[in-house]
Amino acid sequence: MRTYRRADAGRRRPAGLIRAGSLLLPGLLLFVSAVSGSVIRGPSGAAVTRVRRHQGELYIPFSAVVEAYGLYRYEIADPGYVFSSRFCRLALAPSSREVEINGERVLLDAPVEKIDGQLFVPLYLAIRAMAERISPEPPPPPIPGTGISGRLVVVDPGHGGRDTGAIGAGGTEEKEVVLSIARRVRSLLEIRGYEVVMTRDRDEYIPLPVRVMTANQAGGDLFVSIHSNAAENLGARGPETFYYSSASDRFAAELARLENLAAAADDLSGPGEWSRAASPLPSGRIGESRRLAGEVQKRLAGLSPENDRGVRTAEFFVLRHTQMPAILVEAGFLTNRIEEDLLADLEYQERIAEAIAAGIDIYFQ
Ligand SMILES: [Zn+2]
Repeated sequence: MRTYRRADAGRRRPAGLIRAGSLLLPGLLLFVSAVSGSVIRGPSGAAVTRVRRHQGELYIPFSAVVEAYGLYRYEIADPGYVFSSRFCRLALAPSSREVEINGERVLLDAPVEKIDGQLFVPLYLAIRAMAERISPEPPPPPIPGTGISGRLVVVDPGHGGRDTGAIGAGGTEEKEVVLSIARRVRSLLEIRGYEVVMTRDRDEYIPLPVRVMTANQAGGDLFVSIHSNAAENLGARGPETFYYSSASDRFAAELARLENLAAAADDLSGPGEWSRAASPLPSGRIGESRRLAGEVQKRLAGLSPENDRGVRTAEFFVLRHTQMPAILVEAGFLTNRIEEDLLADLEYQERIAEAIAAGIDIYFQ
């Protein structure tokens, strides 16, 4: 299933689009049907999306609501689905006019629809029903150290922007998959009371040294980088988790070389300069990273025990230079057709995220 995509128009608003706010005037509705796009605003930002007419009603892809409201946590319910974030919960079902927004039942003018395998919702839901019940303002940023657990986790979705990372035969891009998984990890950790800092929260290119500096300046207690794999052997599949040490084999060494390329491309502070400046990693930190990698991998392996690739080591740039226990998760192989489909699947992404979050939680206990 490759129906879930972030509203890829993302942050840019092409000229000529109208703002969702204008739709609040009923007189404008006729005008709206003639245009092709709208902007949905929520606590997670603005999502530009196309509007389509379906059975006389205006609809938008539900992915735009997910993006604007940060609804990256997903469960299958009976009937339909529940999408949630730290401050919002939305239950809906295809073919039903009834939705539940933070526990309140709301009857829409038209049903939620599945069109060509993709979930569409009436525009009204996104611009009015949600906005009236959930503040479109982002929640205030957490004050460091105020999470229930007092722990700060830095989540690093690999690649982004012009750096797509691995690309599967079906066109699935690593940068998209890992951002989606990372956002789910964030939600799951926040629900458990952790504070989370992301090195990127949209499709943008962030050099590896900047990711490292973000983590170190935030004073993270733990760093988890999320990637998906590629291999010449198209049969290779299964998750694996790395911590920093010399490469466990030539495949691990090659993988680290590829993942480090993004740092090498940055003339300002390439890895050469960083390694000259770096002092040896304290052995305590290596031991902690190994323990963390073990907890996370144990749970990832539970998703497909026959494909457990285990805990491995390699000299990843982001693991070498972060000043906290650090791991890099390769969630699976985009070069394997079965696993590419899994990695693009919303529910599988959620299971990967649950495994990572649970491993982190156990590590801290
Ligand atoms: Zn990667």
